[in-house]
Amino acid sequence: GPALIPAARHGIHRERLSSGARRTVETLQQQGYKAYVVGGAVRDLLADITPKDFDVATNATPEQVRQCFRRSRIIGRRFQIVHVLMGAETIEVATFRGPHDDDTQTDAHGRVLRDNVFGTHAEDAARRDFTVNALYYDPVAETIIDFHHGVADLEQKTLRMIGDPVTRYREDPVRMLRAARLAAKLGLSIDPAARRPIRELAPLIENVPPSRLFDEMLKLLSSGHALRCLTQLRDEGLHHGLLPLLDVVLEQPQGERFVELALDSTDRRVREGKPISPGFLFATLLWQQTVARWQKLQAAGERPIPALFVAMDEVLDTQAESLAITRRIAGDIKEIWALQPRFEQRSGKRPYALLEHQRFRAAWDFLQLRSEAGEIDSEIVSWWEAFMDADGESRAALLQPPR
Ligand code: ATP
Ligand code: MG
Repeated sequence: GPALIPAARHGIHRERLSSGARRTVETLQQQGYKAYVVGGAVRDLLADITPKDFDVATNATPEQVRQCFRRSRIIGRRFQIVHVLMGAETIEVATFRGPHDDDTQTDAHGRVLRDNVFGTHAEDAARRDFTVNALYYDPVAETIIDFHHGVADLEQKTLRMIGDPVTRYREDPVRMLRAARLAAKLGLSIDPAARRPIRELAPLIENVPPSRLFDEMLKLLSSGHALRCLTQLRDEGLHHGLLPLLDVVLEQPQGERFVELALDSTDRRVREGKPISPGFLFATLLWQQTVARWQKLQAAGERPIPALFVAMDEVLDTQAESLAITRRIAGDIKEIWALQPRFEQRSGKRPYALLEHQRFRAAWDFLQLRSEAGEIDSEIVSWWEAFMDADGESRAALLQPPR
């Protein structure tokens, strides 16, 4: 059976859970069901990281869970879960899931297309990806239930796959990205058996639906450890041919400084608890490729502004084939890029109009990055700083004579 680890050994007290998570588990247990906090939250608490959210696993069916909570609803996506609303919190409650049966649909590469079979507690643990993600915390007894030596692995700073890594990656190639992300986030090293097959299996990522890849990339980039994650991906050989995005980001020496600065500032914002904008993030990651296209088109005789618009569309279309950047985010990216040449126009009414633009702030942050990376003359940045600081007549005095 699984190891039962007491509080004296794991050190997590029930007060560290959100009150919503605690009440959800307690209510289910009072109704006679098994219920635990599971997955990332338990792992993060053990690693002394504040969890983003709390997931609950139970042997109650979604319908039974719904009957335990007045404010709850069943959400049916790839598998059914219940959202329990507790004050401002939403707790995701999932019924234990089992292994897929013999006629589970897979694609030609072994990727599981549908799995929604209820299972036992042990089966629920076995279908999770890494041992550190298969820990169950019972806040009533204050014990951790550990089926796969996850607590020991976490102490030894090892990210170990449950089961045969090759099979598990084939079932779901996103696990390769998760390996890189979790290793970076938690400072773990990927167990050699889980690390070795990645290079060869990386091309399987191409079969993952673009919308799911986009979610995973966004998670990775907004983890607060984006720079470390991408370095980890490169070390695993996972960037090559995986996503055009990563090829672009990691294999352009002239863009490296720019991307590093961008990710570093994003990571800092995340760690300070400030919001980040996906549009800004992807705008920075894809900028080098856009600049390269832009320059080529201009060299071929196209005028600067039309050339920029053609380059933007080409770059975003290429990404769309593998990464489903949502239309709204693509719109944000384009706005930030399209405003860049307008910083060069410093006469007449134009600077005033730019200052009033809805996306000025993002475009201005972007311009500063370009300057820090040495892509543009810092004189432009100082001019705009002066222009923003000045008022009335002194502002007018800064304007350059019209050309
Ligand atoms: P994060 O800190 O990003 O939330 P997480 O491990 O909680 O990390 P989630 O996507 O929230 O990631 O998943 C919750 C849990 O579901 C994981 O801890 C793991 O047990 C399980 N899980 C998630 N994705 C997979 C997967 N692709 N294959 C197997 N199990 C998975
Ligand atoms: Mg999570």
